[in-house]
Amino acid sequence: MKAEELIYKNENIAVKCPMDLIKAMDFCEGYKLFLNRAKTERETVIEIISQAEKEGYEEFSREKKYKAGSKLFFNSRGKDAILVTIGHEDLSRGVRFNIAHIDCPRLDLKPNPLYEQDETALFKTHYYGGIRKYQWTAVPLAIHGTVVLRSGEKKAISIGEADADPKFFISDLLPHLSKKQDERTLKDGIKGEELNVIVGSTPYKDTDEKEPYRLMVLSILNDMFGMTEKDFLRAEIEVVPAAKASDIGFDRALVGAYGQDDRVCAYTAMMAAFEASDPRYTTVTVFTDKEEIGSYGNTGMDSLYLDHFLSDLCESQGAVKRDLYRNSFCVSSDVGAAYDPTFSDVFEKNNVPYLGHGPIITKYTGARGKGGASDASAETMARVISILDDNGVCWQTGELGKVDEGGGGTIAHYIASHDVDTVDVGVPVLAMHAPFELTSKLDVYHTYLAFKAVLLS
Ligand code: MN
Ligand code: MN
Repeated sequence: MKAEELIYKNENIAVKCPMDLIKAMDFCEGYKLFLNRAKTERETVIEIISQAEKEGYEEFSREKKYKAGSKLFFNSRGKDAILVTIGHEDLSRGVRFNIAHIDCPRLDLKPNPLYEQDETALFKTHYYGGIRKYQWTAVPLAIHGTVVLRSGEKKAISIGEADADPKFFISDLLPHLSKKQDERTLKDGIKGEELNVIVGSTPYKDTDEKEPYRLMVLSILNDMFGMTEKDFLRAEIEVVPAAKASDIGFDRALVGAYGQDDRVCAYTAMMAAFEASDPRYTTVTVFTDKEEIGSYGNTGMDSLYLDHFLSDLCESQGAVKRDLYRNSFCVSSDVGAAYDPTFSDVFEKNNVPYLGHGPIITKYTGARGKGGASDASAETMARVISILDDNGVCWQTGELGKVDEGGGGTIAHYIASHDVDTVDVGVPVLAMHAPFELTSKLDVYHTYLAFKAVLLS
């Protein structure tokens, strides 16, 4: 046998399939628009369902029995979306799951966020998910959310995205005065209680109120949304980077944007679901909330919302749910950490994903000895590798950094625990969880191809 037949080599897609660069560039134009429109989990659900409706999807009803080719959507509490295309095979013969998460690390407002200090109005925040706090200072921020007024009326908030909109800001010390702060470790460079967002700097006129700067902000919020201070308690408000998605590098081969973990997999999963319009097996594409804080709560994968939906789907189609699970195949689509040439020592060179080498098949995640991992079996790995190879998809494998360097998890174990063959597949990301993350357009495009191939397998 020749050496090249014996040795497993992994190359950049730009070397292997240079023609794909144009297709990837084109594909990512839609991706950047999606990222700019969908800055929160709720906005992502709205965006996915509105695009699905344009593609001919209709809202699922368990009173109906659906024919092969039917395209359905389900909206769970405005925070999770499910897209289904009914296949030719009976549901009991299994489905093709693809599950991505649509929540991202961010700063949530505290329940009672507004205060005034020394002629400045500020919001107190509590960070959501794993962030490096110092990265969130001195960058323009936007505010998104939902407030439910006393009347029951729901108001959507989005300020800071349009060019003409005001932005928001978390301050940091100037280097001239940071001598003491510079002694802190990087972890504590900015502390949780220092992530205070500047939201106003002029006082309310003609008032005896002791805190006129705070009052000024309340009066503007009342004009804009009809809300009072008490309504913060009936709200979910998220502070996110205001920056727009853009091309990175002279060659424009990378996408820089907030929230690519994991909306890069959400977008590619959505596009794959749209394209896989006549599948043999029913496809179930899930966009889920709360992954970044452990998938808990009734909109996370730890909840039964997907299981309940599948019960309804099985009832409507006359199938046995446990057979559906047992015969299904799932890609848990989440990002992985790409090799970083500047910080190469946290990676193990033979098992690190590289930007531009395609979607990562991750056999297991976890930390400290695979703790918390859904370890895909040899058979499951064989299956996903065959699907990708047979469809000309470029892919790579990898794990999250060196052993005991850190670690992380995905939603894989929540679906695997239902007796489903599950494996993680997703896009490598540089500077994951930063306010601005990088992906390779070639990886984004080949991840879409990978997901489409899985849905049609
Ligand atoms: Mn993720
Ligand atoms: Mn994450």
